[in-house]
Amino acid sequence: MMTKKIKIDPGHGGKDPGAVGNGLQEKDLVLTISKLMKEYLEDNYTGHEVQLTRSTDVFHELSKRAKIANDYDADVFISNHVNAGKGTGYESYVYTNASAALKALQNVLNDEVLATARKYGLGAHGEDRKRANYQVLRETKMPAILTELCYIDSKDNKLLKNDDFLKDMAHAYARGVAKFLGLLKAKVVTSASAKRYYTVAKGDTVSAIAREYDTTIAKIKDWNNLDSKYTIQIGQNCV
Ligand SMILES: [Zn+2]
Repeated sequence: MMTKKIKIDPGHGGKDPGAVGNGLQEKDLVLTISKLMKEYLEDNYTGHEVQLTRSTDVFHELSKRAKIANDYDADVFISNHVNAGKGTGYESYVYTNASAALKALQNVLNDEVLATARKYGLGAHGEDRKRANYQVLRETKMPAILTELCYIDSKDNKLLKNDDFLKDMAHAYARGVAKFLGLLKAKVVTSASAKRYYTVAKGDTVSAIAREYDTTIAKIKDWNNLDSKYTIQIGQNCV
């Protein structure tokens, strides 16, 4: 399977806080959600790589965000935002002239997100599947979607202060993107089913270990730190 590339865009940042209210700033919330989303994708799916347009509190122009995604040759782009305007509920936007792929992305993402949101008493903000001529949607060359989680300046702010809500919603975003791309779930080998263990020595590479055991390594958190006291469970091929 070809590796699918996911570009997650935490909106705003640096000098641009985005929406503010109730002691919260959009730029911080969307960075948190985007990082949780990346982590969930890496922990639970295989056959993909995922990058953020920013992983710190820095400002990028909208055109730069689109360029980052285009240069990366991403298969999907998701720009995460939090709303303001004293409303309530979740909504998402795709480009005005929505292709079949864009509609599919929006449908699968919104289904996942709203199912999770409803557990917290949060619904859709009117018609949740919206269209807009936004720059990051217009200038990106791959299927792109912009999400507005809920409202920072309404009763929704209580949810935004709930870490479980942020995590669950980030995971729902991740599942939506994974479904859209058809990613396979990573099989995490549990210690009960793992047959063998291998303690990594300095200089080992993952591919060499996999060759040695005639398998692939099911899951490794830290691919760049294979040099000491690292035990890998040798298990089934999951790729
Ligand atoms: Zn925003």
